[in-house]
Amino acid sequence: MNEKEKSEVVSRIKLEIDKTKSEIIELKELTKPISPENAIGRVSRMDAINNKSINENRLRTAENKLNKLNHSLRKSSEPGFGSCARCGGNIALGRLMLLPESSYCIRCAK
Ligand SMILES: [Zn+2]
Repeated sequence: MNEKEKSEVVSRIKLEIDKTKSEIIELKELTKPISPENAIGRVSRMDAINNKSINENRLRTAENKLNKLNHSLRKSSEPGFGSCARCGGNIALGRLMLLPESSYCIRCAK
């Protein structure tokens, strides 16, 4: 990976970190405890509970992704950046641009 490619991947990582952070803020808002009073009605309350567990899953996924992105960003200043954490081969640039949090090449990720 040359310097230009590397800086493209790094800005992609930073962009994705910003996006994921705002997603997490939004999801935290959506997963606040549902008030027990019946103001929203029983059926809406059931909906709210269902949506809450979907959003809790999304929140966990987003937090996980943010951890990986921060990890990739830290690694970007190290010499091994862009190589697979398992086999040591190069991770394709297209893969890093699409999934900047990947630390495995396509073969090892399977
Ligand atoms: Zn690999």
